[in-house]
Amino acid sequence: MNSTRQAIKDRVKAGLDVVIELLDARLPGSSGNPLLAALTTGRPALKILNKQDLADPSQTAAWLAHYNAQPHTRAIPLDAGDKAPARALIKACRELAPNRGDLAKPLRVLICGIPNVGKSTLINTLVGKRAAKTGDEPGITKIEQKIVLENGFYLFDTPGMLWPRIAIEQSGYHLAASGAIGRNAFDEAEVALELIHVLKRRYPDALQQRYGLAELGDEETVLEAIGLKRGAKVRGGGVQMHKAAEALLIDYRQGLLGRITLETPDEMTAWRQAAADE
Ligand code: GDP
Repeated sequence: MNSTRQAIKDRVKAGLDVVIELLDARLPGSSGNPLLAALTTGRPALKILNKQDLADPSQTAAWLAHYNAQPHTRAIPLDAGDKAPARALIKACRELAPNRGDLAKPLRVLICGIPNVGKSTLINTLVGKRAAKTGDEPGITKIEQKIVLENGFYLFDTPGMLWPRIAIEQSGYHLAASGAIGRNAFDEAEVALELIHVLKRRYPDALQQRYGLAELGDEETVLEAIGLKRGAKVRGGGVQMHKAAEALLIDYRQGLLGRITLETPDEMTAWRQAAADE
């Protein structure tokens, strides 16, 4: 964490024009780091809503509008199926820093994202297609990867990850449900119950169809019903709740419940406000 912060500070000192933050389109607010703007001293920002193939398209549109309304900010959707991600990425960065981007004044872009958001996949696609990877630059203490996307356009990848401080309980649940947090760090049943809570409210049909449920009772009843369908029964007739939870979380992460976004921009704003007031 601290070394990542230092790497970002070093990059600001060495020269930085645009900051790309890779977000998970299923939980854009919770997968973002509110400290990044301060660390990068308010440099123009490109928010990439990644894994859009797993997210609800109407919610992705709402999140894109939310970010695009912010000053010095652009947002684009992306997923690993996009074979030419560099085009949209380069175009958005050039719009954010119109005075840079030739060999005399290269456009210097930093890319950040939490674990599992798809950063390596994206970078591999970028590198594989058209970019040359080079080593670290003089003046940069930590090893950072420099990718030449095209002449006068450099993408810098920081080592390590910058984690959000999870001050918002809901964000913790969403991060855990998405697979961003290691499985030993949370209670799967608790996270599954929260996921059911969101699904019941916003995507009840998806839940009913996937598990053949005629009706949706309270969260525990739904989880139990999922367990019964998915062979998580114990001998006495009850259900192993953690197994039921695991089945639901796996299905969600693989997109088997459909394209589902866990949070809206308005909800996120309200949660941040409530956390700040505490
Ligand atoms: P990193 O930790 O940010 O470098 O994440 P990875 O690139 O290793 O990706 C984490 C997981 O997400 C892998 O299983 C990828 O296959 C998957 N993944 C990456 N991008 C996408 C995407 O756009 N859509 C979907 N559905 N999965 C993706």
